[in-house]
Amino acid sequence: MRTRTLAALVALLAPASLPAQPATADRPNVVMIFCDDMGYGDVGCFGAQGYATPNLDRMAAEGARFTDFYVPCPACSGSRAALLTGCYQERVGIPWVLGPKWKIGLAHSETTMAETFRSAGYATGMAGKWHLGARPSQMPIHHGFDEFLGLPYSGDMWPYHPEHPKGYPPLPLIEGDRPIAEVTPEIQKTLTTRFAARAVDFIKRNKDRAFFFHLAPNMPHVPLFVRDDSRGESGAGAYGDVIREIDEAVGSVLQAIRDEGLDEKTLVVFTSDNGPWLSYGDHGGSAGPLREGKGTCFEGGVREPFIARWPGKIPAGLVQRQPAASIDLLPTFAAIVGAKLPELPIDGLDVRPLLFGEPGAESPRESLFFYVNGDLQAMRSGKWKLMFPHDARTMRGQTPGHDGVPGKYGNLKVGLELYDLDADVGETRDVAAEHPDVVARLQKAADAIRARLGDKRAGFEPTEVRPAETATD
Ligand code: MG
Repeated sequence: MRTRTLAALVALLAPASLPAQPATADRPNVVMIFCDDMGYGDVGCFGAQGYATPNLDRMAAEGARFTDFYVPCPACSGSRAALLTGCYQERVGIPWVLGPKWKIGLAHSETTMAETFRSAGYATGMAGKWHLGARPSQMPIHHGFDEFLGLPYSGDMWPYHPEHPKGYPPLPLIEGDRPIAEVTPEIQKTLTTRFAARAVDFIKRNKDRAFFFHLAPNMPHVPLFVRDDSRGESGAGAYGDVIREIDEAVGSVLQAIRDEGLDEKTLVVFTSDNGPWLSYGDHGGSAGPLREGKGTCFEGGVREPFIARWPGKIPAGLVQRQPAASIDLLPTFAAIVGAKLPELPIDGLDVRPLLFGEPGAESPRESLFFYVNGDLQAMRSGKWKLMFPHDARTMRGQTPGHDGVPGKYGNLKVGLELYDLDADVGETRDVAAEHPDVVARLQKAADAIRARLGDKRAGFEPTEVRPAETATD
C-alpha cells in the first residue's frame, strides 16, 4: 500500500508537462501490439502456411511491412526491457529472463516509453504480459502506465507446467498492482480476448484525448489456449487457432479505432518479443526461411514480423527492407508526438524516414548487436551478419515436442561465422574466409560495444551498464 500511495503522490507532484489534448493527424494516438514468441513466418503476409491472418494482412496492405525488423534479445524480459526503454537490454541490467520469485525488476530511474508518452500529455494503458519485475512496486502502473491488466510474467510459469509443476507459484492475473484472480486453464482460454477487450475499452474511454496503449498478448507463447468457441476454427491445430485469435484481437482494435473516427489519428504497430520456441514442435511457431528460433541470435531468434499502419502518413503497401529494431520505437514515437527523449543515454534511433517510406531512406544505424545474458553473440551491419563463437541450442537432428510438451535441444558450436543475408537469409553458408576485411571491420565495431556494454565470454567488463533494481516489497 505504501508504494501505491507514494506513486500516487509522485504523480500529483509531477503533472504531465503538456496538457491533455486530443490526438491529431500529425500527433497521433499510438497502439503498440507486442506478441510473445511469434515467429517471422507466423503471419500470412510474411509467408505463413496453413491458416489465414486477414486482419494483419489488411493492416500491412493499408500500411507498412518491415522485412528486416529486429529485437536485440531472443527472449522475453530482455526484449521487453529493450522495447520499453529504447536501450540494449544489457544497458538497463535486464539481460535475460526474470524468474517469477525474483525481486529484480526494471529500475524506476529508467524512463519507459509510457513515461515518454505521459510527459507529452498522453493517457497511457497496458494489457497483457509485463515480465519486467513481479513485485507490486514493479508493475507497469509504477513505470508510467495509468492502468494495467495482465500477467506479471510468462504464462507457462505456473503450477500447470508439464515438466515443472512444483517449480512455480500460482500465476496471478493483475489489475493495477494487485492480484484479482489465480490464472487457471479456464482463465488462460480467455486472456487474448480479454486483453484485446481492455484495449478496445481504453480506446473508447480515451477517444477525446491523445493516448498510448500497449497490448501485449501472452500468446503464442506456450501453453497454448484459446476460447472454447475458437478451438478448431483455424483448421491448423492449436497453434493456428492461437494465431487466428491474435489476428481477431488485432481486428477488434482496428475496428474500435475506425468506429471512433480515429483512423487517421492513430498509429498502430504490431510485432513480437522473440522468435518461435522450436522445441515445442507443433505448439511452437515458424521462423519461415530463417535459421533457428527463440533463445538464439540466428535470424530466427531475433528477426520479427513488423507491421505499422497510420493512414495518411504511412504509404499503403510499403515494404521496408532497411533494418530497424524494437529499440528504435521509443525515439521514433517521441519524435512523432513531440516528446522529450529520456535523460539517460539510449541506443535506439529515430527511424521516421523508414516508417514513412521516404524515397532513398536508409537505416541510420551502422550496426545492430545481439546479446544473450551478457554474451555478445552476433551483430548485423548492412547485409552482413557476424556470429561470434559461442554455444547455441538447436533442434537440428533432435526430436521436437508435441501437444505442449517440449523436446530436448541439442548443442551447436558456433564459430566466428559471417553470413551474407542478401544472398543467404537462411544463414546456411559461412563466408568469413572469403571476406576477412569485412570480418575485421565488424570485429572492431563489436569491440567498441563490448567496451561499453561488456561481453562475459570475451572477458570485457561493461562501463556503461545501469543496474536493474531489487524490490523491497
Ligand atoms: Mg517471448
